Amino acid sequence: MSALTLFHSARFTVSVADLAAMAPPALPEIAFAGRSNAGKSTVINVLTQQKRLAFSSKTPGRTQLLNFFALTEKNELGERVERGYLVDLPGYGYARAEAGQRATWDTLVGGYVGHRQSLIGIVLVMDARRPLLPADEALLQFVDRRGCLLHLLLNKADQLGTVERRAALAGAQRRAERIGPRASAQLFSGLKREGVEELAATLTRWLFA
Ligand code: GDP
Repeated sequence: MSALTLFHSARFTVSVADLAAMAPPALPEIAFAGRSNAGKSTVINVLTQQKRLAFSSKTPGRTQLLNFFALTEKNELGERVERGYLVDLPGYGYARAEAGQRATWDTLVGGYVGHRQSLIGIVLVMDARRPLLPADEALLQFVDRRGCLLHLLLNKADQLGTVERRAALAGAQRRAERIGPRASAQLFSGLKREGVEELAATLTRWLFA
């Protein structure tokens, strides 16, 4: 089975506004984080090959929630069984975000990333032209304390020339090395569907290692 098939099975299951409302930890969860506009929705849609899956997270009332997508596989009996979840985290870094909204984000995302037992790894989606901004580093600090797997995804690589691409990847790889062997980095383009197989392979390793 191609690594991608599992991700094509993604289906929206639930939105969560506070951590107490979450189902008890069970199957492995992989979270997608990133600054607003880095292309997180596009990345999830390309990975799952579903045009509007993650944009459902952008409908009014859902932007500040954790949105869960179930991944399923068929068993020997042909029944669909859940294997894990993708979790779309609220975007961050809006210059105009109010203090109250920021505090809500900190509580929800910080609490989830810091404490959720079933969270095995985080994909940090960044604009390859402006990676590792202070807000991204703030998220990395949560991840550092927690010690989960991490993949730095340099999206919009189609906007860079060959030399810039190499430099962006080298910079992200150096940042990943500082975190340790549980961190990795890659170039990606949601627009050109570049890097999808590499992303799927990484996440499959996380799920089935
Ligand atoms: P989100 O706010 O992080 O969920 O970002 P979106 O997925 O809504 O994307 C933000 C903007 O970036 C949209 O205008 C997308 O069309 C654009 N975008 C997303 N991915 C890419 C990419 O790989 N290359 C380019 N050039 N633009 C992209």
